[in-house]
Amino acid sequence: MHEMSIAMEVVEIATAAIPADMAGKRVERVRLRVGRLSAVVPESLRFCYDVAVRGTPLADAVLVIEEIPVTARCDDCGHQWTADQPHFICPRCNSGAVRILSGQELEVVAIEIGDS
Ligand SMILES: [Zn+2]
Repeated sequence: MHEMSIAMEVVEIATAAIPADMAGKRVERVRLRVGRLSAVVPESLRFCYDVAVRGTPLADAVLVIEEIPVTARCDDCGHQWTADQPHFICPRCNSGAVRILSGQELEVVAIEIGDS
């Protein structure tokens, strides 16, 4: 279950992102961007995250996962499309010269810290 190591990494990155003068404040949300090609199952990641945050400054923080669809572009005809599944052949001209523009993301985009 590689989601566990990802969850621990997310917790590590998010913890490191808490500014020093905010230490001790409650982190309310951790925003994560997960591409559909990143091979991460959001539900398992959420489950692992709940385990990984125990005893950390993020213990009460909700994980918000934004799923990024796969966007691809054909280098031959310029056609651009989005898909839930990776599609490596251009649907318009059948070219294999396909460039993946998005969908591989796996990043912590923001943490939100409460006032209390
Ligand atoms: Zn094409």
